[in-house]
Amino acid sequence: MESVRVRFAPSPTGMFHIGSARTALFNWLYARHTGGAFILRIEDTDAARNKPEYVDVILQGLKWLGMDADEGPQPDGSIKGDKGPYFQSQRGEIYKKYVDRLLAEGKAYESDGAIRFRVPKTPIDVPDLICGDRQIDRANEPDLVIQRKDGSPVFHLVNVVDDIEMNVTHVIRGEDHLSNTHKHLALIEAFGAKAPHYAHIPLILNPNGSKMSKRDVGASIADYKEQGYLHEAVRNYLCLLGWSPKDNREVLPIEEVIAKFDLPQVNRSNAHFDLNKLFWINGEYFRAASIEALEPLAVEILQKGGVLPESYDPAYFRAALSIVKEKIKLGRELPEWMGYFFREDFEFEEAAVKKVFTPEGLGHLAQLRVRLATLDATKFNAADLEAEFKALAAAIGQKVGALIHPARLAVSGRSVGPSLYHLLEVLGRERVLARIDRAEQKFSK
Ligand code: GLU
Repeated sequence: MESVRVRFAPSPTGMFHIGSARTALFNWLYARHTGGAFILRIEDTDAARNKPEYVDVILQGLKWLGMDADEGPQPDGSIKGDKGPYFQSQRGEIYKKYVDRLLAEGKAYESDGAIRFRVPKTPIDVPDLICGDRQIDRANEPDLVIQRKDGSPVFHLVNVVDDIEMNVTHVIRGEDHLSNTHKHLALIEAFGAKAPHYAHIPLILNPNGSKMSKRDVGASIADYKEQGYLHEAVRNYLCLLGWSPKDNREVLPIEEVIAKFDLPQVNRSNAHFDLNKLFWINGEYFRAASIEALEPLAVEILQKGGVLPESYDPAYFRAALSIVKEKIKLGRELPEWMGYFFREDFEFEEAAVKKVFTPEGLGHLAQLRVRLATLDATKFNAADLEAEFKALAAAIGQKVGALIHPARLAVSGRSVGPSLYHLLEVLGRERVLARIDRAEQKFSK
């Protein structure tokens, strides 16, 4: 069997859009599933709209999502493969040869300075592995412009020539190109080449059913990184936009997706973008992620947010992160959830102060302070602290919550947070006692 060669062929005209990323991903998955090659080809013939920095946005996005190309430009600026150049702007000679061939064979002609391809007027079969096979009636199909007056080749021509030259076996791309496919097949036939298999992926729609555009929330891959999404979570979510393992699971290791992914199973109907689902999946990945994996991301976000000092105690930082990560779904939440670990002048939630630091609440806090002061540092761990809280609550005839709420507010300024006993353990005895003292001073009248 021929070995699979697929390509992702973006036009670098702006941000790396979620729809493009999903197209790249389905190509990459299919290449990895079949042991074939994943080619990256930059379709940059439209000089007015393409910019080199947009190529970089795509390369960085692919890198972030872990989709390594076997051929084509690499994120470090190098280029892999011998079927290049992989930038269409550098392939003018190749396209010219193909146009000349059609002219020489009478399959194309000049008209008003442009070159047109003679489209046969017979019906043509357009097979598609996802959308199903169709037949197109070409009785009224106009001849196709393949080279403009200014000598520049047209998208349909360069796209087809490159698929032939690069020995592409499967064209997996967005459904917006479905209506072009009969034109591409006609050109391939004229060149006497073997047609690739086509697989058009349905669109991604907004929750309201409109087509997802550049301006919609969630459209830009770079934004996900910026907001502290985990790349594995975003990639996992993208897999589900048109594909599923058919057993209702949504959190899937990529190795499993690679093992199961196949083209005929890609969903025929449009995918619906659901930010809540992505958010939930990200939370699952956050919880499951190792501290080592999260640390670089967390440090970056916290230092950008002005919350983590340049130099910090790594063991303390990791301990804090390990209890907070259970509670949050997104890196962007970290500054709010972790600020009080690294500063003593944290703010107090006003509503919680009113509700919790009543004379009674402050009384309980004072009793707790006395009790905690008797504990030595070795007993300042979650299990022993829990036992102390429970014993004190029983002794003063209160529910344990009567101690927990004032304690949490005193040490963090917040009414919600990680498990309190773990929080106290991580903060440590000295910090906890000092913070309780300050809260008592500040809020007792
Ligand atoms: N440059 C085209 C696009 O970005 C690629 C079409 C194709 O994959 O064949 O839509």
